[in-house]
Amino acid sequence: EKWIYTFGEGAAEGSAGMEDLLGTKGANLAEMSAIGLPVPPGFTIATGVCGYYHGHDGSFPPDLEEAVATALAKLEADRGARFGDPANPLLVSVRSGGAASMPGMMDTVLNLGLNDDVVQGLARKTGDQRFACDCYRRFIHMYGEVVLDIDGFLFEEAGDEIKEDHGAVFDRDLSAEACAEMAKRFREIVKAETGEPFPDDPQAQLWGAIGGVIRSWNNQRAVIYRSLHNIPDDIGTAVTVQAMVFGNRGAGSITGVAFTRNPSTGEKAPYGEYLPNAQGEDVVAGLHTPLPLVESAAHGEIGEATALEAHAPEVFDKLIGLCDRLERHYGDVQDIEFTVEEGRLFLLQTRPAKRTVEAGLKFAVDMHREGLISREQAVVRVNPDDLDSLLYPSVDPAANAHPVARGLPASPGAASGVAVFDPDDAIRRSREGEDVILIRKETSPNDIHGMHAAVGIVTARGGLTSHAAVVARGMGRPCICGASSVRIAPELDSFTVGDVTVKDGDEITLDGTGGGIFLGRVPTVEPELSEDLKTLVSWADEIRHLAVRANVETMDDASAARRFGADGIGLVATEHTFFAPARIMTVRELTLARNERERRPSLDRLLPLQRADFTRLFRELRGFPVAVRLLDPPLDEVLPETDAEYEETSEALGLPVEAVRKRVAAVRQIVPVLGHRGCRLAISYPEITEMQVRAMFEAASAVMQEFGETVTLEITVPLVVGKREFDFVRVIVDRVAAEVEQETGCTIAYRVGTLIELPRAALRAGEIAKTADFFSFGTDDLTRTVFGMSRDDADAFLTTYMNNSVVDLDPFVTLDIEGVGELVRIATERGRSENKELLIGICGEHGGDAKTVRFCHSIGLDYVSCAPNRLPVARIAAAQASI
Ligand code: ADP
Ligand code: MG
Ligand code: MG
Repeated sequence: EKWIYTFGEGAAEGSAGMEDLLGTKGANLAEMSAIGLPVPPGFTIATGVCGYYHGHDGSFPPDLEEAVATALAKLEADRGARFGDPANPLLVSVRSGGAASMPGMMDTVLNLGLNDDVVQGLARKTGDQRFACDCYRRFIHMYGEVVLDIDGFLFEEAGDEIKEDHGAVFDRDLSAEACAEMAKRFREIVKAETGEPFPDDPQAQLWGAIGGVIRSWNNQRAVIYRSLHNIPDDIGTAVTVQAMVFGNRGAGSITGVAFTRNPSTGEKAPYGEYLPNAQGEDVVAGLHTPLPLVESAAHGEIGEATALEAHAPEVFDKLIGLCDRLERHYGDVQDIEFTVEEGRLFLLQTRPAKRTVEAGLKFAVDMHREGLISREQAVVRVNPDDLDSLLYPSVDPAANAHPVARGLPASPGAASGVAVFDPDDAIRRSREGEDVILIRKETSPNDIHGMHAAVGIVTARGGLTSHAAVVARGMGRPCICGASSVRIAPELDSFTVGDVTVKDGDEITLDGTGGGIFLGRVPTVEPELSEDLKTLVSWADEIRHLAVRANVETMDDASAARRFGADGIGLVATEHTFFAPARIMTVRELTLARNERERRPSLDRLLPLQRADFTRLFRELRGFPVAVRLLDPPLDEVLPETDAEYEETSEALGLPVEAVRKRVAAVRQIVPVLGHRGCRLAISYPEITEMQVRAMFEAASAVMQEFGETVTLEITVPLVVGKREFDFVRVIVDRVAAEVEQETGCTIAYRVGTLIELPRAALRAGEIAKTADFFSFGTDDLTRTVFGMSRDDADAFLTTYMNNSVVDLDPFVTLDIEGVGELVRIATERGRSENKELLIGICGEHGGDAKTVRFCHSIGLDYVSCAPNRLPVARIAAAQASI
């Protein structure tokens, strides 16, 4: 097995593709060397040795020793110096680095190969006693800490004492004598702590350091970091042994870090820091304040700072030239370590720069415009999951506000309003023009109208998959769930957190992205799709095959859908018309009517209301396909509950309260979600369907007459389990459509299709497709029925499931591809095999999830539909899926 890969002098055995073997650091050093960049030569010991070492009680593969000796001999020849030779010493660094980035988690030893003799040789060779002793004291300190496991504090403490004795403030003020004294004291610390003298044999030092670096793979902070970032434990670190170059060799020497562009703003400008006369670790260690590469306002405040640009213009120009080359070569923004030894510039590391979301977008757009990457590469650079923070309002960081309570960030965005505790209050006050925040212990379907009226929602109980969370996300309302420190008064007129009381009507602000609840009105900032995001999304649109539609419930949603670039509407819920508070009594009458004759009058009253709602919607959305779902929720959601409501109802119906109670008992359902809802309502009460379809077609005709253009109507039948059910409803739709066409003389293009949201419908899809024009997968209900769990109850155990790795992802957020996805696939295949023209999409929360979008693309769906705010996410995810 080949354990060692050399690099240097314009050549390398490794390359950038070999991260698994050489670690990112080793692979990129090889790459830079191979393309002729100034990299000090060295060799990398492959990651396999780390696995071997940990699997063999801390011993090395038998053939490694010879391989290292050979590589070291080559290094000596390259450098014209010899490891451990006082007459002409070679010093090396021994560096860690695996395939996954774990910044600062593992260890590195610099200046290795020194002892009391060699340090004198180094001083003679360079004519610089101070420099030689500076290297020596650094080396003993690092070696003691990394390899010999001595507490670093002992060295620091001793070092500080000596510094003080010599009147030095910073390391750079240390004299040669002070450095020598430190080295001597550090050797004594090693002796005292380990009981052994410091290892003077350079070979022993080298093998000690290789072992130390390999062991640092399993140091506590590295192990924790890996578990936090889902990095496997068995990939191991490589070890790079590299000739030292010295940034601490006097005034003409420098060490620093450079980013090829600004990783925080994305601006194309050199960005980074340096220290004169220092070594690499000093920049990050925070002991010194590094200086900027170019003059900036932030650094200007510190005072006499000198930017590298002014301090060493030639080096600066060279560095910028190298940055440019690296960026071109890698096609991405790089984070670079560099060192200047007496005016000569060396590169010691390069890696893709960590960046803010905004900077990442800017990089992608700019780099494509500069011709560095293709449009596809630019789109792939964006992680759709990172876009959340850009698509919703947020609490203005400049306000510096502190939350009084925290909960789970259940639905992103920020909002301010008055606290209310009752859904009806929420409606009343929002009517009066107030922004309200609804605060509930938990929510149920009965609260939906109040949630809708609110600008934000807080619950004291429930998790990220609770009813409140799911509904709020669907509505695009910011929401905090499980704010357990919030105690709601039994009278529902205030809540307390600690000793703070917030009364009904007091203003609060919530941040659903971070989970904080604030007193008063904290300024929020509106999301604005940045020019960069708009550009990337428009490129994504040119690439993607999957159409992206929006789900809407309100007029606001409809205009948001247009603004965020929907290709159409995948689902309009019609409940809103029914459950608006002013209409609730009409719907109650409808629900409690005993027969068609009794139902007609309420339907006659609902028709113009529903038509008006549709007309507004279709006006806004003309030119688009719009899928309208027929009435879906069980009507018993409107039934009276309180005595007052019974009184009211009895008056409106002209019936004694007792009679009302009897009728309520007759229609009240035990498990409404599995009960009398969806197309079951349409079949029991065809006149409701007739009314709805009439309202739709009349509205579409009116818009057509007004604008010469209308929507392509798609009528979606919910909760179907088989063909006969679907056909029953389809007949009604076709008949009413023809009637309206007769009356208005307007021909409206329409399709009739079904939601596939029950397992039986998915299995019988072939049959259903014979008469259906489209399928829309209602993945929320499909998930619920396939799993036999409801999202309202699931958070009680799903969190435990996730913590115990029983499930990986919340199936209500990311589509369960193995189970629910299998049904989607089956239904798609069966449907398409019977009906080539069948249009297929998914609606439901999953439509805005990037992984789900990828899956939908892969099985050939025509569209996904999601909440308007998530359209940019879905559009980018759809493009990435087709690249
Ligand atoms: P980390 O992963 O913690 O950054 P590195 O192996 O990159 O560890 O090294 C730590 C510091 O030492 C870096 O600043 C690096 O540039 C510097 N360094 C490493 N090897 C050498 C070398 N051969 N010559 C000069 N400086 C080096
Ligand atoms: Mg580094
Ligand atoms: Mg449904």
